[in-house]
Amino acid sequence: MKKFGLFYTDEYLKYSLGPLHPMNPKRIAASISLLNYTLRDQDEFALIAPNTVDPSVLEIAHSVEYIETMKKLSNPETNSSSELRDKGIADYGIGTSDCPVFDHMAEVAELIVGSTLKAGEEIMKGTFSKTFVMLAGLHHASRERASGFCYYNDINVTIHRLKKLHPGTKILYVDTDLHAGDGVNYEFFRDPEVLTFSIHESGKYLFPGNCFSNEVGLKEGEGYAINFPTFPFTYDELYVELLENYLPPITESYNPDLIIWQAGVDGHADDPLGHLMLTTETYSKLGLLIAKLGEQMDTPKVLSLGGGGYNPISVAKSWFAEINSLAGVDQLKVAPNEWIDKCRNELDIEMPKNLLDEPIQMHKKEKDEILDETEDLKAEFEKNLSPYWSF
Ligand SMILES: [Zn+2]
Repeated sequence: MKKFGLFYTDEYLKYSLGPLHPMNPKRIAASISLLNYTLRDQDEFALIAPNTVDPSVLEIAHSVEYIETMKKLSNPETNSSSELRDKGIADYGIGTSDCPVFDHMAEVAELIVGSTLKAGEEIMKGTFSKTFVMLAGLHHASRERASGFCYYNDINVTIHRLKKLHPGTKILYVDTDLHAGDGVNYEFFRDPEVLTFSIHESGKYLFPGNCFSNEVGLKEGEGYAINFPTFPFTYDELYVELLENYLPPITESYNPDLIIWQAGVDGHADDPLGHLMLTTETYSKLGLLIAKLGEQMDTPKVLSLGGGGYNPISVAKSWFAEINSLAGVDQLKVAPNEWIDKCRNELDIEMPKNLLDEPIQMHKKEKDEILDETEDLKAEFEKNLSPYWSF
């Protein structure tokens, strides 16, 4: 049996939010072609074409009015109405510079939801123990609001749907994207059957500006929302140490039936949106860590989602590192020439020969300052979470 399902379709390339927008399809095109040249024929992997989803399924996580507005703004025959455009921005956050209107956006956003949902269903059926959905993990969208390049929240729809189909399933949602997983965090803020764990550059310095460690959930869900906001410039060893300190003991104690990993790679040092100093070293280690947590489950079930990342070079390398280590295969270190040529000719991107980054050199003084700030954040995190978890 193939153990690892890679979900991909060229239709993802239509999720293009504009020529100058960071959410540019080149990140997807470069990454899938690297996988095609390297992993396609390996026994471990199956390449799966996703399905779309019927819009009625979205109602589990989005309001009917929001879905209707998305459809109208998506349709080239109706989306030029200024009244509709004004309402889209004012009431739903659709039409902003982060979440612009583009033709057929509802269809491609539905396809993303369908991809995550299908991957989740296949995992629950046992077709695969691990999956990676390349264009997925749109964690900022909420019930009635587009936000941070996200229109429909594929994660929330999938979690609600799987909980309905498999009552009592305990889900651990791990979010290692640069940005806080706010749309998921607040959707399940009162739900003890969904434990959300997000580590992100602190909202003091970066969008979306929320998810601090004192936001631990509410009512029955109290203690089931976990947030670690990191200091800017957090580097490989420190970031990995934070995760290794907290995530395994919490996972062991929660004992989930399914792990969903939003594996965004915009924390890479070369990413244009944030200030973290991570390299492929971290992304390899994250894949290993999540794989290990999966293997400790009674039946390993890991649904991973591509998430953010806006420099096509660091995205291709970092997703590649994550997928290889999550799948437990030896990673190719030198890029195939065919891939380098294809990226140069078709995407106008000059890819590096080395797929693994060199360590970033930082001054000791700078590292010590980051370490000091992080000690304070750890103390605050432990104070907020120790009533609920031991680590
Ligand atoms: Zn992000």
